[in-house]
Amino acid sequence: MPTSTGIASRLAAARERVDAAATAAGRDPADVRILLATKTQDVATVREAVAAAAELAGDDRPVLVGENRVQELVAKAHDLADLVATGMLEVHMIGHLQRNKINQTLATASCVETVDGLAVAEALSTRCVRDGRTLDVMVQVNVSGEESKSGVEPGAAPALAADVAALDGLRLAGFMTIGARSDDEAVVRAGFARLREIRDKVLASGAPGTDGARELSMGMTGDLQLAVAEGATIVRVGTAVFGARPVAR
Ligand SMILES: *Cc1c(COP(=O)(O)O)cnc(C)c1O
Repeated sequence: MPTSTGIASRLAAARERVDAAATAAGRDPADVRILLATKTQDVATVREAVAAAAELAGDDRPVLVGENRVQELVAKAHDLADLVATGMLEVHMIGHLQRNKINQTLATASCVETVDGLAVAEALSTRCVRDGRTLDVMVQVNVSGEESKSGVEPGAAPALAADVAALDGLRLAGFMTIGARSDDEAVVRAGFARLREIRDKVLASGAPGTDGARELSMGMTGDLQLAVAEGATIVRVGTAVFGARPVAR
């Protein structure tokens, strides 16, 4: 298979970073999955990355792909429907979800990682119940408090998680965050630790529907080592695999 784009080797290098960070933290590298953040990438590129990821993983778990914008999510999922149908690919929504885009999102995503309020959760629930399906969701937490970031504030996260977990048609799979935009590793790391503490608190609560809320989706190209050190189970990687995006977004 031609590897002239370098995707397979960059993915392998990212995987090595993850594995090294996990081992250093005394964790099993197999407990950390890489989600390919594919915004702005064309379908051929995504296919190449998915094939490389499947080969690298060497197991039959689906490759995770995340999209930020509903329009792109829908277009790509349509073009990648064959991979979704065979169970090779699982698509997550990792961008802010507007309630008027819920139907389109549900048609394509198997997990919405960005639930940040009860209203959007209730709208997802209503839809899922009507369609007779279950959707995995994560509660997005704004651990850094930066105004530009979506997510519920950390103090309100456990209560929101319990409310979401109690809704029919939804399965609370865990928690997601975007790390602080800071050069200070201690600050970034403290944010990731905060998400883990929220997860552990919710798991320990025994509230209905929370027993499966184990995932911690945190860490990107620039801070994935810190996230893995603090317990990430999913790191969302774009630049490390695809190279720099043409336009920041
Ligand atoms: C783009 C994006 C990523 C990946 O970012 P990189 O720095 O390119 O690895 C991860 N998570 C979210 C929510 C994103 O929008």
